[in-house]
Amino acid sequence: MKTTIDPMNWREILARSVTDVDGLEQHFQADFSSLRSVAERHPLRINPYYLSLIRDPSDGLGRQALPDVRELSTDLKDSDPLSEEPQSPVPGLIHRYPDRVVFLVSGDCAMYCRYCMRKRNIPKEPGLIPVLTDGLSERIEKGIRYIKDTPAIRDVILSGGDPLLMETGVLSSILKRVRAIAHVETLRIHTRVPSTLPQRITERLAAVLKQHHPLYINTHFNHPDEITPEAQAACARLADAGIPLGCQTVLLKGVNDTPDIMTRLMRKLVRNRVRPYYIHHPDPVAGTAHFRPSLATGLAVMRSLRGHVSGLCVPQYMIDLPGGKGKMPLLSTQIAETSENRVTVVNYQGEVCTYDFC
Ligand SMILES: *Cc1c(COP(=O)(O)O)cnc(C)c1O
Ligand code: SF4
Repeated sequence: MKTTIDPMNWREILARSVTDVDGLEQHFQADFSSLRSVAERHPLRINPYYLSLIRDPSDGLGRQALPDVRELSTDLKDSDPLSEEPQSPVPGLIHRYPDRVVFLVSGDCAMYCRYCMRKRNIPKEPGLIPVLTDGLSERIEKGIRYIKDTPAIRDVILSGGDPLLMETGVLSSILKRVRAIAHVETLRIHTRVPSTLPQRITERLAAVLKQHHPLYINTHFNHPDEITPEAQAACARLADAGIPLGCQTVLLKGVNDTPDIMTRLMRKLVRNRVRPYYIHHPDPVAGTAHFRPSLATGLAVMRSLRGHVSGLCVPQYMIDLPGGKGKMPLLSTQIAETSENRVTVVNYQGEVCTYDFC
């Protein structure tokens, strides 16, 4: 009997992921033998949906998904430059700022992005990821207990890995338990699934998420070509469930570090009810140095947005300070001079203007 694969079943799509160099060679009909040692060091996973969007290994999507020999460079050595682990009071829960925590509830991703800032957590053996299917693990119990015992926490960010790769029922029980904590005011989910596996955003998932408002979702799109009809449908399903959608984009060399690509991405997000939140400068994580643009490039991209396109399309450009010192927005507005009550700036058209405060 022939088995047919339901194109909409996200688990089946994920199960057919390319996880080795042989699979890549077969798909692209090219020699990738130089990538074998990279894939041994940093595992590979590209699901057939995302793979179908890659037209060429060196296009903006290919660069995010295919291994690169430069990942073996030792220019950057730290796998946790933001000190996430020292700032975790219990494993998998990062408490850096007073009122919010990042709760790493899932170790699984729909694709292993080559620039990932948590590359250290990507399991060495693809397919052997601790997917939480049978109730809440001890780690999650400990995280929930910490949140319960820490009244200062008002905002809980579920991240990972990708929280939306958990079974809907398991995710729902975590959300319920965190939501039941009186001092927790808002929930956030950080997910790349709308761009890498939009089929996961089912009607049932949206209906479950909707029960836990106020719930915000930050998506993660890096390129306008990731906003396909499938991704648009996924975002619409979430937005129709009343979930405010944001986007955290990573500024990536050779992927989206030009005014044209970034402008197209931001406009396309806004047209799909996704409000750009942050553009992150890539963190100095071992194995990702080749993705890091210069400061001048980052500021030029931001200057191409501010004033030129709708303010809805202009997120903040963020750096995350090493050692867990926190995120900082960088202003693309050039402040030429300040005194106690006057600032001199260069506007979006390059004119020098002064502003008096009182
Ligand atoms: C980014 C981050 C947050 C959230 O920061 P916001 O600016 O509120 O979005 C919280 N905790 C940690 C550890 C983070 O890295
Ligand atoms: S989906 Fe997010 S956590 Fe997973 S590999 Fe990509 S960037 Fe990293």
